[in-house]
Amino acid sequence: MELYDVTVVGGGPVGLFGATMAGLHGMRVKIIESLPELGGQLYALYPEKPIYDVAGFPSILAKDLSTALVTQMMRFKPTVCMEESVLSVQAVQGEDSLEFLLTTDHGTHRTRTVLIAVGLGSFVPRKLPALNAARFESNGLYYLVPALTHFTGREVAVVGGGDTAVDWTLAVAPYARAVHLIHRRDQFRAQEDSLRQIQETDNISIYTFTEVAEIVGQDRIEALRLIDIDNETEAMLPVDAVIGGLGFVPDLGPVKTWDLNLKGSSIVVSLANMETNRPGLYAVGDVASYDGKVKLIATGFGEVAIAIARIRSYLHPDLKGLPHSTNVKRLKT
Ligand SMILES: Cc1cc2nc3c(=O)[nH]c(=O)nc-3n(C[C@H](O)[C@H](O)[C@H](O)COP(=O)(O)OP(=O)(O)OC[C@H]3O[C@@H](n4cnc5c(N)ncnc54)[C@H](O)[C@@H]3O)c2cc1C
Repeated sequence: MELYDVTVVGGGPVGLFGATMAGLHGMRVKIIESLPELGGQLYALYPEKPIYDVAGFPSILAKDLSTALVTQMMRFKPTVCMEESVLSVQAVQGEDSLEFLLTTDHGTHRTRTVLIAVGLGSFVPRKLPALNAARFESNGLYYLVPALTHFTGREVAVVGGGDTAVDWTLAVAPYARAVHLIHRRDQFRAQEDSLRQIQETDNISIYTFTEVAEIVGQDRIEALRLIDIDNETEAMLPVDAVIGGLGFVPDLGPVKTWDLNLKGSSIVVSLANMETNRPGLYAVGDVASYDGKVKLIATGFGEVAIAIARIRSYLHPDLKGLPHSTNVKRLKT
């Protein structure tokens, strides 16, 4: 069984960049992803979501960012294992030094270090607690949004008050005839700029202190029965598509059994080197926790640079830090 320098667990944006940085600095790299596609939570859930805070891109769709990260990584020819979940990580004494055996649902992998980039782990959408919601799932009611053209000319309701609901309202508005954003409180937990855009968009209406009691229809969605929580009154809202934007319940799954210091659903690391409490195991991206952590792609990219610098000196104690990419001689433009 081939021994790798670094095995990246998780093929989200941060894991992909981790594999790139490791490859760039001459390490033998493998990346293991449990889903059938690389790209992580944003690509899997919202491929058409525009992202505005990745350095160098005024705006980039989640799917285009994923494609660019995969292209960048493939330049270094890592071994890519898809649809394979890492279940356990066991430390063993190798010929020269400590090694790890990663057991997956497909087999076993050998590696000298592990870069854990599992994000939120697996994530399950919070279901809409409305009558008939289960009956219309994937038949007009969506938790994972399909291509935006699917909503062309339709009357769409988006339910929720966080980033998920607000982002989807804005994304769907240019395609839909009208979008109705329904929230059971009057305060939204979303970026101020997005809320301003919602108020300035003509075909978006906002319903606060409102709950969806029932999805009404025979073979397809025809309306929502809404309850005004303040006045305890009911109203029917004709719609033909509903997006459940109530967020996701994260579950770290097998990672919880890896003897790592956890804080909720995150792995505690030292910001100095992104190392976990288990030497040789590093964590980056959404799953890594330290004081002041901000869960953004940009943060994860920075953490990767710190982790790879540390892994480089762990594998080669005579080497320190990380040279600039412009100083890596074997790279061709
Ligand atoms: C609605 C929404 C909007 C957002 N908007 C922005 C934004 O505008 N800008 C921004 O910077 N960030 C945004 N984010 C946050 C961003 O998506 C995350 O910060 C980013 O995805 C973190 O990347 P990651 O690689 O750490 O984890 P993830 O993207 O979660 O990827 C982790 C990967 O690991 C895989 N995995 C999990 N467990 C295992 C296992 N045991 N074995 C193998 N593979 C495993 C998963 O399948 C997944 O593909 C948004 C998030 C949401 C939900």
